[in-house]
Amino acid sequence: METALLAPSDRPLSDPIPGEAWPTWPQHTADDVAAVASVLESNEWGGAFAPAVVSFEAAWAKYVDARHAISCSNGTVSLSIALQALGVGHGDEVIVPAYTFYATATAVLTAQAIPVFADVDPATLNLDPRHVEKLITPRTRAVIVVHFAGLAVDLDEIQRICRQHGVSLIEDAAHAHGAEWRGRKVGTYGAFGSWSFQSSKNVTAGEGGALTTNDPALAARASSLRNCGRVPEGAWYEHHLLGGNHRMTAFQAALLLGAVERLPEQFERREVNARTLDVELSSMPGLVPQARDSRHTAHAHHLYVFRVEPSDSAISRDELIQRLQARGIPATGGYPIALYRQPIFAEYRFSKEAVGWHNAKERQNYHDLRLAGTERICREAVWLPHSLLLAEPRRMSEVVEAVAESLGEAG
Ligand SMILES: *Cc1c(COP(=O)(O)O)cnc(C)c1O
Repeated sequence: METALLAPSDRPLSDPIPGEAWPTWPQHTADDVAAVASVLESNEWGGAFAPAVVSFEAAWAKYVDARHAISCSNGTVSLSIALQALGVGHGDEVIVPAYTFYATATAVLTAQAIPVFADVDPATLNLDPRHVEKLITPRTRAVIVVHFAGLAVDLDEIQRICRQHGVSLIEDAAHAHGAEWRGRKVGTYGAFGSWSFQSSKNVTAGEGGALTTNDPALAARASSLRNCGRVPEGAWYEHHLLGGNHRMTAFQAALLLGAVERLPEQFERREVNARTLDVELSSMPGLVPQARDSRHTAHAHHLYVFRVEPSDSAISRDELIQRLQARGIPATGGYPIALYRQPIFAEYRFSKEAVGWHNAKERQNYHDLRLAGTERICREAVWLPHSLLLAEPRRMSEVVEAVAESLGEAG
């Protein structure tokens, strides 16, 4: 097409409109409006056993292919409940990745245990199993893995390490709705899978969380812990465990039922578009998309992440992000610092006594900690939101062109 001969105002209609909006998130349908209205009319708005809540738990267990799903108020509390249900507490150590959201590590403090940070592999942005194994001590009770951006961690190695050392595995699957490892959905490999349905997540009701497990005893404990320590056969004023009111509302459950129905189609769209970006970006000098292998049978793409290798790239990571933003591509650098550099950890703004921090020599020194892989990702990563991957496949060429033009602009 001879577009070069046309003045900008004479662009043929088939041209992408400059600045055409990218899909927004969250999304909802007319069915969601009806579902929320129907909860409103039903007068069953809350309670652990409201019909919408029970239906959602069944739908989520079915989707993940787990025996039990227990809903709760968010994906922070779900982690604390998982630790408590497993009996992790005062003085115990829990290994967590250093490149993750705050809650993965603070849930450990909330459970009165000690987070120990393991490094992540810059290629996958996931926990490095070799480092996890080195950090195990007789006090280690659990490992929390994060399937970062929706890419499963090396569950072969992590499961082997956990079994060998008699340590529990919890999967923080807040990025990984529908992700698979060797054809089986994540959230079913550990003692618990932990889920978030917060606004940014690929399945959302604004807020919300859940645990999945195949163990009926753990399911019963988790269900009680999110419902004030009540038990199913007990009376209303009968409390057995130190739980809390961590229940999801029926309105959230109604929205989530719709979101789960739409997930497979959105999942597919994200995979197709991410594959296009993988091929195109990896051919550009210095750009390295998150590495996946044949065991990663499905990637949930909560984020699309690639790294800018400073030695090979024409421009810096920060310049690239600025230029992409100027072209309407919502790129960011993600977490600017490792989690252990946050004041809560680096300045020990928690009660060492409460978590059983008896002998400082045995512990990680958060203040001086520097994990090479994590530090590097904080400098090199570029994140694109999953909503971008919900655009029509033809629009990935706009992303690719914006990246190519940004790189080409270098002096
Ligand atoms: C979002 C998130 C959480 C916490 O979920 P909330 O529902 O926001 O409390 C935990 N871990 C990871 C990795 C997350 O991205």
